[in-house]
Amino acid sequence: MAPILPIDNPTLPFWRTELDELDTLRTTASLPAESDIVIIGAGYAGVTLAYYLLKQLGHETNTTTPKITLLDARQICSGATGRNGGHLRPDIYGHIPTYIERHGLDSAIEIAEFEYAHMQALKDLLVEEQISCDFNITRNMNVYLSEEGGERARQAYEKLLAQGVAVARDLHYTSAKNAEGISGVKGAKACLSYTSGTLWPYKLILGLLHRIAGSPALNVQAQTPVTAVTPSGEGGHLIHTPRGVLRAGRVVYATNAYTAGLLPEYAKNIVPCRGICSHIALPAGHDAPFLPYSYVVVTKEGGGGSYLISRPDGSIIVGGAHFTFKKEKELWYGVVDDGTLIEPTQHYYDDFMQRTFKGWEKSGAYVKEIWTGIMGYSYDSHPHIGQVPNKPGQYICAGFNGHGMPVVLLSAKGLAEMIATGKTFEETETRMPRVFKTSAERIHKAQTGPEGGDILGK
Ligand SMILES: Cc1cc2nc3c(=O)[nH]c(=O)nc-3n(C[C@H](O)[C@H](O)[C@H](O)COP(=O)(O)OP(=O)(O)OC[C@H]3O[C@@H](n4cnc5c(N)ncnc54)[C@H](O)[C@@H]3O)c2cc1C
Repeated sequence: MAPILPIDNPTLPFWRTELDELDTLRTTASLPAESDIVIIGAGYAGVTLAYYLLKQLGHETNTTTPKITLLDARQICSGATGRNGGHLRPDIYGHIPTYIERHGLDSAIEIAEFEYAHMQALKDLLVEEQISCDFNITRNMNVYLSEEGGERARQAYEKLLAQGVAVARDLHYTSAKNAEGISGVKGAKACLSYTSGTLWPYKLILGLLHRIAGSPALNVQAQTPVTAVTPSGEGGHLIHTPRGVLRAGRVVYATNAYTAGLLPEYAKNIVPCRGICSHIALPAGHDAPFLPYSYVVVTKEGGGGSYLISRPDGSIIVGGAHFTFKKEKELWYGVVDDGTLIEPTQHYYDDFMQRTFKGWEKSGAYVKEIWTGIMGYSYDSHPHIGQVPNKPGQYICAGFNGHGMPVVLLSAKGLAEMIATGKTFEETETRMPRVFKTSAERIHKAQTGPEGGDILGK
């Protein structure tokens, strides 16, 4: 398979309108010839993995070769992480009933608790590393615009409580009588709120990179696409790039949507899928109510609705609207072009705030930036973490869907522990949900099962 690489001229997301000095970091002018570990991909997964590996392995190096080399095809954090909705929304409800049916209660609870733990883990990390990224803790309002949607939400919520899913106690259900008043969404028929966070993802990643970039054990090389990984003949690996070949003891694929370009066996497991997101601002002199919550507005059409966060400056990040283009598969499924918009949706957000929120009718709110990004959707909904089957010394940390913010951090921490200590997936102290473990069985299921699995079933 030809490498599936990020394209050269992507749309401009709001998050990348204030670039950091490390955006195109190359620690050295040329690539290091050798590394203990090469991480491919410098988004949320790659940078947090480098951070936790350095914590595990130490920052010292006693040779001229770095311990870790971090490569990215484009600029740092220019993939999904730099183009997302900035919404840290642990799933303690949405998909959990399905996971209970598929994997049993214990496994589903592991996922809900793992995601929920990201709230505290991220908060602790930001305090420890003194990173400023507009982080806020709020409540996400799932707002249902149809009575049936609201009723389904209520039943699912009550069932989770009855089944003993402890984190589901954080959920708060509001029925039709107060739904509009509480959420501020016109025509709301019900809402369900739970703890969530909002942040500037690019500033999180670049902030973390600042903490590690000076380490003699790390070499970062932006704008260096990896075109192939081949055996070196000495038990190691050769990492091929247009700038030369690196020799690596171990390789980690933090390549998310693009993973199949280097690991073709994952082509059915992790599929590049395009999404759209926008930044809505107010014209000078205009005002609108500050929205104290983050949101998912589930439209009458269903199909995902829109996720939305408010920024401290009163502007809004909103995206999704999958239902507006879902049927036109060629516009999003298997698509790596984040240089163009998704046509049916490019004006959907033009007057979204006026249409949706009480008090915003005369706000003059307008779309200031709109962009696309490529997600790595997973066939069975779960990321792939751990050792690549049948490829000793190769690891994967990818397949985070449109939902990486409450999943990546502790997955990277767990994988770093595996790589640094030689522990198995199950032995790590960072207890990752068992269904996240990559395996030959999961790969095979996607290769032989119905086209698209959960991705096209959504
Ligand atoms: C429009 C949109 C909205 C989203 N909204 C949210 C949200 O609100 N909340 C949420 O939780 N999640 C959201 N997501 C999903 C979330 O952004 C991702 O799950 C998460 O960022 C994945 O992080 P990552 O590091 O695995 O991937 P990425 O950030 O994509 O990083 C992968 C990196 O690998 C590099 N790479 C790939 N192949 C190669 C190669 N061959 N050689 C060198 N480098 C390579 C890429 O350039 C890229 O920088 C959204 C995603 C999109 C696109």
